[in-house]
Amino acid sequence: MRFKEYGKGRRFLGRLDYESDIIEEIEGFATSMDITTAYVQVIGALKKVKIGYYDQDERVYKELNFDRHLEIIQCAGNLTLKDNKPKAHLHITLGDEEGNTFSGHLMEGSVVFAGEAYFDELRGEPLHRGYDETTGLPLWENI
Ligand code: ZN
Repeated sequence: MRFKEYGKGRRFLGRLDYESDIIEEIEGFATSMDITTAYVQVIGALKKVKIGYYDQDERVYKELNFDRHLEIIQCAGNLTLKDNKPKAHLHITLGDEEGNTFSGHLMEGSVVFAGEAYFDELRGEPLHRGYDETTGLPLWENI
């Protein structure tokens, strides 16, 4: 494993805007606060959801769309840089009215009903995402 060590930075709690795109909210906040590296968690509820499953053979995200109201049981991941802009990579577990759960890689197009976000900023050299030939994914390249 390649790694970088980070120091503790600022911590924030934030309330996501109604009917915003959850990823745009997270990345927009990071841009406004000049956060380049962070651990991020969100709980709340979404009005509609788009998640993906990465097909390792075909090297594409297969999309799953839920046009329904779901709880965010847990949503966690990191925020680093891609093309020198904050890029959130979040995985999410969602719950329905019967307690069933769905999960995957959170994609743009997921609409917030209510959300509470936690940002744990990490101080140090920012990680940059770039195309990885082996996986076809935008992985950290300066690590
Ligand atoms: Zn992912």
